[in-house]
Amino acid sequence: MTDKKKKVVIIGGGITGLSAAFYLQKEIQENNLQAESILIEASPRLGGKIQTVHKDGFIIERGPDSFLERKTSAPQFVKDVGLASELVNNATGRSYVLVGDRLHPIPAGAVMGIPTQILPFVTTGLFSILGKARAAGDFILPAKKETGDQSLGHFFRRRLGNEVVENLIEPLLSGIYAGDIDKLSLMSTFPQFHKVEQDHRSLILGMKKGLPASNQKHEPARKKGIFQTVKGGLQSLVDAAESKLDETKILKGVKVESIVKKNAGYILRLSNGDLIEADSVIITTPHQQAANMLPDKENYQYMQEMPSTSVATVAMAFPEEAVDIEGNGTGFVISRNGDYTITACTWTHRKWPHTVPAGKALIRAYVGKAGDQAIVEQPDHEIISAVLEDLNKIMKIDKKPEFTVVSRWKEAMPQYNVGHQEEILEVKTKMMNSYPGMFLAGASYSGVGIPDCIDQGIMAAANALEYLKK
Ligand code: FAD
Repeated sequence: MTDKKKKVVIIGGGITGLSAAFYLQKEIQENNLQAESILIEASPRLGGKIQTVHKDGFIIERGPDSFLERKTSAPQFVKDVGLASELVNNATGRSYVLVGDRLHPIPAGAVMGIPTQILPFVTTGLFSILGKARAAGDFILPAKKETGDQSLGHFFRRRLGNEVVENLIEPLLSGIYAGDIDKLSLMSTFPQFHKVEQDHRSLILGMKKGLPASNQKHEPARKKGIFQTVKGGLQSLVDAAESKLDETKILKGVKVESIVKKNAGYILRLSNGDLIEADSVIITTPHQQAANMLPDKENYQYMQEMPSTSVATVAMAFPEEAVDIEGNGTGFVISRNGDYTITACTWTHRKWPHTVPAGKALIRAYVGKAGDQAIVEQPDHEIISAVLEDLNKIMKIDKKPEFTVVSRWKEAMPQYNVGHQEEILEVKTKMMNSYPGMFLAGASYSGVGIPDCIDQGIMAAANALEYLKK
């Protein structure tokens, strides 16, 4: 790098942009690099899909509520911004799946719906005898030597049969992607399952082998859940990260409208009319907005056409005695075959007890999925009454909610359909050739979970600094 400071502009202040900005600043400071960074966010606040509401002693997440602890970049980010003591794991309890108007406990040992213990699958009421016999076919079916991508539905139906897919795997997966299992890409979502088939032939046996020894010995249920959040809500992670960005210029409430190449760098035109020069650009906005910034967006057709699903979350506060909940349940997902508007429900006061005042219950329901998103467009009262109608079929609720928080997320869940990985590789290669020093990162590309977004932010920051060295 030369003596003149090189400038990296990060577009989008969601978790991807924030982590990119944070680790970029850290590298610049620790290595005394001649570089500076600017973070530009269209809305008046940072955090993107992470938004926490504090109301009457409740901590309510409008979007994500937690992250997987085993994907280490998220807990590490929390520690790096100084919130280590705020990390908390979910309380464990039973999760259910609603099939045929009945809540069935998710069989013990099911990993993303794949059985790893035999007895709970043999005894569950979730599948018919024929369905169970078909799933057992996984023990003898050969591995299919498919080299390209395939849909998750195709893969799981082939190995375990339709019933296991429809009554367990699909409801669990749609909670993550709000997608259509028969369109979602295996290689872009769970490539590890493809590897298990190739390495072990049987998914059941392969998954069993891959489990830690403690799970295989049927030891008593873990006391600590596999998810983590921060006690004050995920917005506090955003706020802590923002407070550490003391050497990063942050522009909020300003949109990047276009980016043009100029000599070895770029000029960004902002919605307030300002022009900003950059040597390197990291774009972390959803893919549709990213494509729209480019002068030759017609060359990035996949980014314009890649679908995203709209969803909404509905949080409802009750006195605890007003809701009657199964055993030590923490929530349930719903089979697509049922006649329900909601797709899943978390009994939040059970899963995250620190988020509610004593004696209160918080129920968070989800609506909207691929092929069924019209509900998200309805006014709040319609959504709330559809949710309550569904919940009253499943559990006893004696009172009206004390308050509700409806959060709409329009076109917010990017769909990684079959072929996604190759399309993204093509997009990134094209970008590298046409726009050197410009990098794409975020939920639209290589993983939607918070840790995947942080990984991408870290990688984009490293790529930008590497590029500036040239
Ligand atoms: P975003 O959060 O979308 O941030 C992008 C930012 O770019 C936004 O702030 C936007 O305003 C800004 N922007 C857009 N255009 C411009 C422009 N032209 N100029 C400047 N800025 C611009 N993941 C989990 O791990 N755990 C969960 O429990 C979980 N639950 C979820 C529940 C819901 C309801 C939703 C919607 C998602 C959930 N996810 C969960 C997924 C996860 O929250 C997201 O994938 C992740 O937060 C996306 O982060 P991002 O930074 O890539 O994008």
